[in-house]
Amino acid sequence: MSGVTVNVPDLAGTEAFGRQLGALLFPGAVIALIGQLGAGKTHLTRALAEGLNVRNPMAVTSPTFVLIHEYTARLPIYHFDAYRLGSDREFLDLGADEYFHGDGVSVVEWADRVPGAMPHERLEIRIDVLNETARRFTLRAFGERYQRLLTAVNAEPTS
Ligand code: ADP
Ligand code: MG
Repeated sequence: MSGVTVNVPDLAGTEAFGRQLGALLFPGAVIALIGQLGAGKTHLTRALAEGLNVRNPMAVTSPTFVLIHEYTARLPIYHFDAYRLGSDREFLDLGADEYFHGDGVSVVEWADRVPGAMPHERLEIRIDVLNETARRFTLRAFGERYQRLLTAVNAEPTS
């Protein structure tokens, strides 16, 4: 496992980071997003989708109530929000595993609410709120494909 951190001063920085990362994503990639309400998980997901050349970026909105949104892009995107889920089992019953093992890119907001349902191999992104507009992204790669992905991300290594 290895990691990097990325600090951004504002929303434009999040958008640039997300687009860069999105362009690097591969079929079957799973992104686990962790961070408080308002941290920027949904905005980051939109930027990832832009990096994947999504047709309509403004359609990328929070799936809090429907739990999943699907978007058409260079790769299909499956956007989940686990906020309202009570358990790993509930998430798995939605068919999460089939999405994770498909050819699309899965992005899970509130992945820390369903830790046992997440695949071992994944990219975890924790978002810390530094102030009203600044954010710190801490990226941790689980599995070789994600470690390779991280070497391509323009960022500072963490210890
Ligand atoms: P979450 O999905 O984590 O609850 P959202 O992406 O829905 O968060 O909302 C993030 C909020 O924070 C938005 O109102 C956005 O405008 C604001 N914001 C301010 N600075 C940033 C930043 N650097 N990155 C992401 N969002 C930011
Ligand atoms: Mg959200």
